[in-house]
Amino acid sequence: MTDFDLIIIGAGPGGYVAAIRAAQLKLKVAVVESTHLGGVCLNWGCIPTKALLRSAEVLRLAKHGKEFGVIADNVKPDMAAMITRSRGVADKLSQGVAYLLKKNAIQVFNGRGMLAGGAAGNRSVSIAMNDKTTKTITAKNIILATGARAKEIKGFEADGVTVWNYRHALKPPKQPKSMIVLGSGAIGIEFASFYNEIGVKVTVVELLPRILPQEDSEISAMAEKMLAAQGITFKTNSAAEKLTKTSSGIKLDIKTAKGMETLEADILLSAVGITANTENLGLEKTNIKLDRGCVATNEWAETGEAGIYAIGDLGAPPWLAHKAEHEGVIAVERIAGVRDIHPLNRANIPGCTYCQPQIASVGMTEDKAKERGIAVKIGRFPFQGNGKAIALGEASGLVKTIFDAKTGELLGAHLIGAEVTELINSFTLSRTLETTEAEIIHTIFPHPTLSEMIHESVMSAFGRAIHI
Ligand SMILES: Cc1cc2nc3c(=O)[nH]c(=O)nc-3n(C[C@H](O)[C@H](O)[C@H](O)COP(=O)(O)OP(=O)(O)OC[C@H]3O[C@@H](n4cnc5c(N)ncnc54)[C@H](O)[C@@H]3O)c2cc1C
Repeated sequence: MTDFDLIIIGAGPGGYVAAIRAAQLKLKVAVVESTHLGGVCLNWGCIPTKALLRSAEVLRLAKHGKEFGVIADNVKPDMAAMITRSRGVADKLSQGVAYLLKKNAIQVFNGRGMLAGGAAGNRSVSIAMNDKTTKTITAKNIILATGARAKEIKGFEADGVTVWNYRHALKPPKQPKSMIVLGSGAIGIEFASFYNEIGVKVTVVELLPRILPQEDSEISAMAEKMLAAQGITFKTNSAAEKLTKTSSGIKLDIKTAKGMETLEADILLSAVGITANTENLGLEKTNIKLDRGCVATNEWAETGEAGIYAIGDLGAPPWLAHKAEHEGVIAVERIAGVRDIHPLNRANIPGCTYCQPQIASVGMTEDKAKERGIAVKIGRFPFQGNGKAIALGEASGLVKTIFDAKTGELLGAHLIGAEVTELINSFTLSRTLETTEAEIIHTIFPHPTLSEMIHESVMSAFGRAIHI
């Protein structure tokens, strides 16, 4: 007889959502969390960054108030107040997770958990409790959901003074005058957008030929152009070679296509990715394997040990909160024997970047479709053709859709512009429902809305767009 049906180590979006779903399915669940309920996402990731980006958006609107007939004098950012608000939002949501776990009668152990032996059906977890005691608990199944931390590159390690990672950038001691952002993935670009908006001189250094390299190349080119017009400098095709700390900040030697160049700034923000928290979990004595630093799992989040699952940032990319949550639900439903569950379909995981302009996508890029030799029909609808976008004063952007020319399958959607992180969901739903262009064209979209661009983009792929 075990203490629990399920022990979950880590209470980020993967772990806490899995715990609640397990409680709904009448499993007796324990959660072990060392630091903060809600994990990186609620405390140091998705939520506090979006709070800061909202402050940047309010600032931008206030600066452009005159265009809307609103006179606001002396508009300026108060970074300390922005940070206070962002931390408040994060704390509120973390408390919300505590409430939800309590409501679902989930027992929370505040401490650091690790696998401590046992066989399939009766596994032990030892917990170094935060109050310095040790506990051992048992369960039939275990979900590992310990997430990830900022990746460190040798010679560019964060010190919290002049070299930051995302945690320092979310709670900086003071506003820098200038910043170099190393890496142009979603995290790097969101911080570049925020700090640029509040008046910091931002330079983004990217090793690859284009920013947001995961995105469709047309969208990343548009993003670079639009962000550059706001004042961000981009150094693509540039390798960071050497970091030197100076009396006033940092110097960064970069190798570009044209030769070596030295950049100077107050701060280097390292946004070069994440490293999975696989250490001190007791994995060594198990059949659980790592693949490129992440715990290897199948499409049901199962590891190499029966009854032990791994979800979220601990596993393979994409490293996103909604992927962690979804995987947690799949693992729990598998454990509970729920019928008709679907494995994780990585091709249907949307990705969003909440810079200004926002970027969102799901499915295949145009380059990928062409690489695979698929004949495609491409739809494009610009924001400047949409009444609501013009009324909002947000007339820059694009909704791009990619269809299989033979079958009409929606292969991918790639968007840039205002609120596209909300619009993308229609495309994700369409892909889940395996919709073709015909059903989307048949759908009635409310007017005036930004969502009409979904309709128009799909119609444009088939030569039927109305407003261009
Ligand atoms: C700046 C930033 C912005 C982001 N923005 C977005 C976004 O907008 N949208 C999005 O989808 N994703 C975003 N992400 C990514 C998102 O935060 C992660 O994908 C998500 O948090 C992963 O969830 P998780 O449950 O796997 O792990 P985590 O959220 O990392 O949670 C893991 C938890 O496990 C705990 N833990 C670790 N080891 C142990 C142990 N041995 N015992 C007990 N507890 C342990 C940790 O304290 C932590 O609370 C962002 C990330 C960053 C850094």
